[in-house]
Amino acid sequence: MHDERNDADGLSIESWLVSGGRDRTPGAPLNVPLVPASNFILGERRAYARDDGTPTWEALEEIVGGMEGGESVAFASGMAAIAAVFEQLPAGALVLLPDDCYQGVSGLAAAGEARGRWTVRKIAVADTAAWIAGSLDADLIWLESPSNPLLSVADVRAICAAPRKTSAIVGVDNTFATPLNQQPLRLGAEVSMLSATKFIGGHSDLLGGVVTVRDARLAAALRHTRELTGATPGVMEAFLAVRGVRTLALRLERAQRSAGMLAERLAAHPEVTVTRYPGLASHPTHAVAREQLKGFGTIISFDVRGGAEAADLVCTKVRLIHHATSLGAVESTMERRAGIPGQEHLPPSLLRLSVGIENAEDLWRDLDQALRG
Ligand SMILES: *Cc1c(COP(=O)(O)O)cnc(C)c1O
Repeated sequence: MHDERNDADGLSIESWLVSGGRDRTPGAPLNVPLVPASNFILGERRAYARDDGTPTWEALEEIVGGMEGGESVAFASGMAAIAAVFEQLPAGALVLLPDDCYQGVSGLAAAGEARGRWTVRKIAVADTAAWIAGSLDADLIWLESPSNPLLSVADVRAICAAPRKTSAIVGVDNTFATPLNQQPLRLGAEVSMLSATKFIGGHSDLLGGVVTVRDARLAAALRHTRELTGATPGVMEAFLAVRGVRTLALRLERAQRSAGMLAERLAAHPEVTVTRYPGLASHPTHAVAREQLKGFGTIISFDVRGGAEAADLVCTKVRLIHHATSLGAVESTMERRAGIPGQEHLPPSLLRLSVGIENAEDLWRDLDQALRG
């Protein structure tokens, strides 16, 4: 059910993310060069970076586009990428949004709604029938799967197959899955979006975002929005993202294996009341996850016995895991999500753990000692 080939080169994604975006002319640097340039000598395609791109960020677009199976446009951050998709909407548009999603997206949607730009309707991630019914007159169907932080997996294929306006966009925030575990365009979506800040970069040292689309006109429109709003990727950030993505398959494979093990042990831990991981049979969306995802990812969320205070204490007691926000990096990070503005609706003791590439037994010992206090 999962197509591992990429359209551009006929390679597996694992090989493409290593080989893509490189210049193979004799004498060329083997690596994508860092090209800090705002402008170029006139007479060729490139005149000004904000309008015409730079070789460094175009290499990132080429690599991600090959992984996702479409044409990519890179932005200054994941939020800049999402905002550019929302920018395509006509006045008075109807937006369907998951009830569980990244707080920046719900914040952006609410701000636009308050200004009268669009109307937002929230739907439970797993309520496929409601997504299908709502799709009929929606202009943007925004999915996030697996969702942050409840890790609910939407039935992307079924939702994409539902009847919708010809101008409607189904967009999937693919940040948690990465193109290695899920390729939304191949499931029927118009847009796949990644916060490159997370798994693509993988080292907590950059902000970046990428939107990938199947339709060349939509790609051109997004590039035009980037030109007008100026949300261009930084050259250093694009360089670091290219460097980071080379090891994505290795990082993901390792961290994902550890996450599966840690999720099972957390689920059996006396100090943990609920463990959410799409790979656990107990997860409400496990069946769809098995059908749709190649791997279950590296993020786990779990509730600690004793409420917010007990959960905060666990965060102060971890020694290997970092008490920090964000996710998808080589180092494991953990935070209490209900403490974040806009996330107060979440279970108060929910901890979101992003499993890194450290030794899995070391991570388990660290969690266990922190939980036992
Ligand atoms: C981090 C994140 C974003 C926003 O990306 P930035 O690069 O921080 O702007 C969007 N969606 C998800 C799922 C994220 O984790």
